[in-house]
Amino acid sequence: MYRTTCRICPACRNEMEETPLVADGEQVVIDICRRCGAVYFDLADGTPGILARAIGPELGSATTTAEVGAPITEPRCPDCEQVMVPHTSLNQVFRCDSCCSVLCRDEGVRGLASACAVYEPRKQRTFSDRLLDLILGRSG
Ligand SMILES: [Zn+2]
Ligand SMILES: [Zn+2]
Repeated sequence: MYRTTCRICPACRNEMEETPLVADGEQVVIDICRRCGAVYFDLADGTPGILARAIGPELGSATTTAEVGAPITEPRCPDCEQVMVPHTSLNQVFRCDSCCSVLCRDEGVRGLASACAVYEPRKQRTFSDRLLDLILGRSG
């Protein structure tokens, strides 16, 4: 039996898994597709950039080669069935205009993570932030 909260991945139609994360010191639960790596969350769950960094490059990435780097096309919000709108500047990031949820994958997760970093004061950057900068080749 499935829980009623179990969502279907907008990218590959697999079932998503509710995944607890600690983002900015707070416990949140977001939906992650373990097949294609797509990540879905409500804006009520937190700031997208902070969540994206909590997700990290491993969880938000495709686990099968078929989906690696493959663009998500016209995903529909699992909650309201609306076609989600692509982010204007980030690839693989989509937003539902109806419920303000976000779907992202691969470079979309990394894009959100680094987009957030721009708005943060340097002094609040943690060791893992700087490590991520090194991994992603960003200048800190
Ligand atoms: Zn998927
Ligand atoms: Zn929606």
